[in-house]
Amino acid sequence: MDYLPVFLQLRDRPVLVVGGGRVAVRKVELLRRTGAKITVVAPEIVDELRKLAFEGELRYIDTVFAPEHVTGTAAVVAATGVPDVNAAVSAAAREQNIPVNAVDDPTASTFIFPAIVDRSPILIAISSGGQAPVLARRVREQMEAFLPARLGALARFMGERRKAVKRALRTAARRSFWERIVGGVVGARVFAGDEATAGKDFERELRTTHLTRSAGTGGLGLGECYLIGAGPGDPDLLTLRALQLLQQADVILYDRLVPTAVLERARRDAERVFVGKQPGNHTTQERINELLVHYARLGLRVARLKGGDPFIFGRGGEEIEVLAAQGIPYIVVPGITAALGAAAATNIPLTHRKLAQSVTFVTGHVLDDESLDWKALARGRQTVVFYMGVGHLPQIVFRLQAAGAPVDQPVAVVERATLPEQRTLRGTLGTIVDTVQAANVAPPALLIVGEVTALAAADALMVSELGALV
Ligand code: SAH
Repeated sequence: MDYLPVFLQLRDRPVLVVGGGRVAVRKVELLRRTGAKITVVAPEIVDELRKLAFEGELRYIDTVFAPEHVTGTAAVVAATGVPDVNAAVSAAAREQNIPVNAVDDPTASTFIFPAIVDRSPILIAISSGGQAPVLARRVREQMEAFLPARLGALARFMGERRKAVKRALRTAARRSFWERIVGGVVGARVFAGDEATAGKDFERELRTTHLTRSAGTGGLGLGECYLIGAGPGDPDLLTLRALQLLQQADVILYDRLVPTAVLERARRDAERVFVGKQPGNHTTQERINELLVHYARLGLRVARLKGGDPFIFGRGGEEIEVLAAQGIPYIVVPGITAALGAAAATNIPLTHRKLAQSVTFVTGHVLDDESLDWKALARGRQTVVFYMGVGHLPQIVFRLQAAGAPVDQPVAVVERATLPEQRTLRGTLGTIVDTVQAANVAPPALLIVGEVTALAAADALMVSELGALV
């Protein structure tokens, strides 16, 4: 190790910054966040520093650097941009054994500023020892992207409850308790910004653990359930929260619509249970509900992974009713619903200032009753997306036309949107049934009805014409 990573407590401690330009501003901003008492020494300073001095946020000494300026300080930063001056500052500080950083000059520094990920009170410092700052920054960006935005909130949430946990649980039980909090519904709720529910779930978890512990039964605690939208198929369209929860689930109950590529993003040793409803496999919704409860009751973290979004034709509502009734903590993670995935993947904007002022998601599954308002669906200046509609395509087309939709109304059918095998078929209400039949389209596919589907076709044409020109 070239350096010892440490975190300096600088609140109310005197820190000297030599230099008054842009580089100094950056260091002053960072130091201010620590509550240090900053003194800036420079013959000239930029307006930002002048303003801070005026507001009493720092002390400004309007002069060139002299060695006595470092005396009595807790740390020194040489940010003059002039190598000779920085060297003089560094020498004076080292003379008195005061930690010094000369910006961009590791040889004149006894400490360096790391790249930081700040989720205070969680702080991550990354250093390349001054050898490859760009690489250190890249590592930081990767961590920024992966770490939950409210990591700090969870740390505070836990801090506020440490005493209560200490009172309720013996040392041996505490660690696994906290691990369940961090890696479970409570943590996920805090990350989602719902500290009120998280607080209640926490209390319940603590009570249960306390009781099972004192009763001498293993004390696995409550199981819990994550109802996760897996998106339309492309694994890169999973949300960060979905990824995080998939990494910690013990069991994954997944649907037919969830592709292997998405399952591969889950924890390697998680048990995977297929609960898809399809011919030959008669997993009913009741059976799925039973399984959810069964696994949660074993004290496991259960991910219920559904295609698209759990609350769009996903029966997620029924599942959380069951979980709530059984007192099993749960959290819902939204996913990109098929219509949005298909729209983006085919360049069909679902709304459009001139062509469609609203968009409707409809199930094409139950056509036998009169629950759908076909007149409303047949009207212009809107987009209507039918889920589960390919099987009933002729009936849907017939009903729309019977309700007044024109035969030349543009439509598109998107099969396996966002997946490598995606196909898009365009046409009109008059042509689409034959087109779909000829192409042997199979579920999952969406029917999109509206002028916007022709718009995207025009775009595609322009691109291909361009291609022909080149
Ligand atoms: N909860 C899911 C929808 C479940 S209903 C969501 O939000 O997307 C199942 C229907 O969704 C399928 O019949 C099909 O119409 C549609 N669907 C799901 N994934 C799809 C995909 N990748 N491409 C096209 N349609 C899809």
